[in-house]
Amino acid sequence: MAKPDPQTVAVRSALESDTQHGAVVPPVHLSTNYTFSGFKEKRVYDYSRSGNPTRDALAGALAELEGGAGCVVTASGMAGILLVCQLLDPSDLLIAPHDCYGGSYRLFESLSARGQFRVRFIDQNDSQAVAEALAERPRLVWVETPSNPLLRIVDIAALADAAHAAGALLAADNTFLSPALQTPLALGADIVVHSTTKYLNGHSDVIGGAVISADAEVHGTLADWANTLGLSGGAFDSYLTLRGVRTLFPRMRQHEANANQVAGALIGHPAVQAVYYPGLASHPGHALACRQQRGFGGMVSFEVAGDERALRCVLEGLSLFSLAESLGGVESLVCHPATMTHAAMDPAARRTAGISDRLVRLSLGAEAGEDLVADLLAALDRALAVQARV
Ligand SMILES: *Cc1c(COP(=O)(O)O)cnc(C)c1O
Repeated sequence: MAKPDPQTVAVRSALESDTQHGAVVPPVHLSTNYTFSGFKEKRVYDYSRSGNPTRDALAGALAELEGGAGCVVTASGMAGILLVCQLLDPSDLLIAPHDCYGGSYRLFESLSARGQFRVRFIDQNDSQAVAEALAERPRLVWVETPSNPLLRIVDIAALADAAHAAGALLAADNTFLSPALQTPLALGADIVVHSTTKYLNGHSDVIGGAVISADAEVHGTLADWANTLGLSGGAFDSYLTLRGVRTLFPRMRQHEANANQVAGALIGHPAVQAVYYPGLASHPGHALACRQQRGFGGMVSFEVAGDERALRCVLEGLSLFSLAESLGGVESLVCHPATMTHAAMDPAARRTAGISDRLVRLSLGAEAGEDLVADLLAALDRALAVQARV
């Protein structure tokens, strides 16, 4: 049989693996420990921090979907990022994007402040800045594309080539697209990191992470560190996440269709100043996104034209978007980055990253697109009206 399509892999991974009862869906193994079959006779598993069949089923699915040699499933996305940091010695330099996920920014800064490694944040779309940073011979380059919340696109293949030429590994945070829409290892990255909390689980009810390595030796090192530090993900979380992965592809298609429809409807509305979506031909990263992604994803950001009353109208006046952080679930969310996800950044750093006080971020869910558009347009119309009333 020909190699199955990734969508088929996502649906069928680990099905029919139960040899005891022939269960179609593998059972969840909650036991923390496993008997030795005799003196000096360890089975495959002994203790669930070190290894667990349910967690391994999820790891197998994610390694196959990302095209890696192995996957470590972690307790959160941040645990996965912390795990990758174990590859760095105190003298090593980490190059990270200046607009990376806030939690990653805080982790890199805090660990480097304690001397665990050195870090330098740069604008990865500035080729001069990239060349200067690589000239310092970093050990690891971190990339996050599309970025949060402005959905800037970075050329993974070009950065991987440049990083390798400088003797560095490239790690890509693939949370915003999932392996359904982007596979960084195929573009030359060495490591892929996920917050499975987002699209991979997809139902906003599990915190989890994953680290997939192209190289078996790197994977082995990371798996050992996960066990040593206790970063491994839980069995029930793994069970739920694998359940979510089975519907990843159809969910991503619906998220993207809704994002396309919403981005198109927002453009040209008088209460909208700018729309950021890589699927728009006007987006500066559009051509690159067409090359390196298999879709544009389900996140859209836009600037509200007007004052704070207009902004409040949009953030509080939606009935089909929950005002909440996070993303990637089947329910649509609206978020104000400046006071929510990016509140920890100081205002100057936010300005440098291009995050204005009028920026609104949407995570498009799996609802009917027409309903989402109607809800948004009604709120934007009210935002116009509230400002006309002086
Ligand atoms: C949410 C997120 C993380 C952190 O993951 P947690 O599961 O919340 O620990 C890392 N990177 C990106 C891009 C994220 O969106």
